[in-house]
Amino acid sequence: MIIAIIAHDGKKAEMVQFLNEHRDILLQKKIVLISTGTTGEKVSKAGFEVNALLSGPLGGDAQIAARVAEGQCDMVLFFRDPLDRHPHEPDILMLMRLCDVHDVPLATNPATANLLMKSI
Ligand code: PGA
Repeated sequence: MIIAIIAHDGKKAEMVQFLNEHRDILLQKKIVLISTGTTGEKVSKAGFEVNALLSGPLGGDAQIAARVAEGQCDMVLFFRDPLDRHPHEPDILMLMRLCDVHDVPLATNPATANLLMKSI
């Protein structure tokens, strides 16, 4: 199972905490993590194996959107920061739209991500 993880700057620490809380299940289920660039750096420093793509503003969200469209991503955990502005908002909307088009589970906050993790 391939899970994409993305966290806006204000949410990166929460993403690392979330993954630490779910480390066992990620290993047990042999989950492959892909991520946007900076999120991947932080997560990798915390000891997780992750395939980091481009940074979000440089196209990372769009790359993950393409994986979703091609059936190469089974779930997206996207910790968005609704209190900040993002230059790549169109890419973010595209990613969320393609999750809906292809019926790929998408969590945009830790509470929903927790529920999704219980289902895998
Ligand atoms: P980042 O991108 O992980 O490279 O910071 C996340 C985003 O802003 O979509």
